[in-house]
Amino acid sequence: MGYSFSAIYFEATRLCNLRCPVCMTGSNNVETVRESRKRELDLDEIREQVLIPGKKLQVKAVGWSGGEFLLRKDAFDLLRLTVDLGYKCNICSNCEILDREMLERIKEATRGKVSIAVGLNSIDEDNDWSRNAESQRTLEVLEMCRELRLDRHVIITIGKYNTESFEKTVEYLRKRRISYNRAPLVGRGSGSEYFNREGFSRQDLEEKFHPALRSSVNGYVSYTPFFLSPELHEQVSGGRRNGTVPQNPPIGCWVGNWLTLNAEGDLSVCPVMLDELNAGNVRDKPLDQLVNESEIFAALTDRSRLKGRCGRCRYQYTCGGCRAMAYYHSGDYLEEDPTCFFDPVDKNTVSEHEEETNRLFRKYLIVARHAGFYERPKREDSPKPGANSPRCES
Ligand code: SF4
Repeated sequence: MGYSFSAIYFEATRLCNLRCPVCMTGSNNVETVRESRKRELDLDEIREQVLIPGKKLQVKAVGWSGGEFLLRKDAFDLLRLTVDLGYKCNICSNCEILDREMLERIKEATRGKVSIAVGLNSIDEDNDWSRNAESQRTLEVLEMCRELRLDRHVIITIGKYNTESFEKTVEYLRKRRISYNRAPLVGRGSGSEYFNREGFSRQDLEEKFHPALRSSVNGYVSYTPFFLSPELHEQVSGGRRNGTVPQNPPIGCWVGNWLTLNAEGDLSVCPVMLDELNAGNVRDKPLDQLVNESEIFAALTDRSRLKGRCGRCRYQYTCGGCRAMAYYHSGDYLEEDPTCFFDPVDKNTVSEHEEETNRLFRKYLIVARHAGFYERPKREDSPKPGANSPRCES
């Protein structure tokens, strides 16, 4: 069996119309952007080297990001191409140029098969510390999406700056049934200047972020630590996985479930590790070939290789630990996630939060199905209890 990935996340330009202090893509650095623009992949290269090869890797969705993706002159051609090739389409935008007319054009170009993802670190003025964007403007775009019946999603970059506001932010989103995921502040781009001071700690995660994350299905898209019973995931997924990384739906850490590219065509395993972990460039080889020959992908789709607490944990597969936190704190992407507050003795140690996670995960399947990341297994796909369990591989 070859690889199968759920999504491609593509930072297709570093060009941006904002100057966010904590920009992890280098978009607030004029020299970085100028150099990148000379080497940006064009539409033909994206089609031939990324999107067509992506079908061989069974990718379902393509997320267009930046910089500000919509500043690309060929943005709408890329959106049409994405849908024509049978992908579900996501657009990550900073909202600056998103008005009703633009949203209607997006809806038309994608034939409605699109989700609009926006960055919002806090719903009040605290947002401004990390983002050069008014939260009010972002909330207006989310409301316009609702009126136009466009799927919407929010990305919240978490750090010390939003420990106090996080619960309020997710409560606001939960009430409006808006899905969200947390992304960790890391030492990429100008995040490097802030990572030591503003990166969240194990205590922040345990006391502030995790209680809010685990209490609502809207945020089950991806976070760690994720205390989902491996038996339950195996039962509902039909045992589907990429190597040992659970799929249908993807959960916990998404490394091993998605492919990420920067504007110049460098391949990596996670958006926040772009520019740091390089698995080759699609100008040299098409995407599927790069992935199939990559040592990094071979290692990270085999969670039996995880070290420390993650390597002796009941949730080694269904959580996997945030690989970015492991990498930025230790330099080793297979190390334990040092921000996790769970201390398993061995694989028999069960988290006090497993029952709650299992209960809400069953509800999350409805959200995941709607987003195109979950389908009920056919009867013949369903594994016999305990059979083919990733736990047996370690
Ligand atoms: S020890 Fe690692 S795998 Fe286990 S819950 Fe914590 S982060 Fe997840």
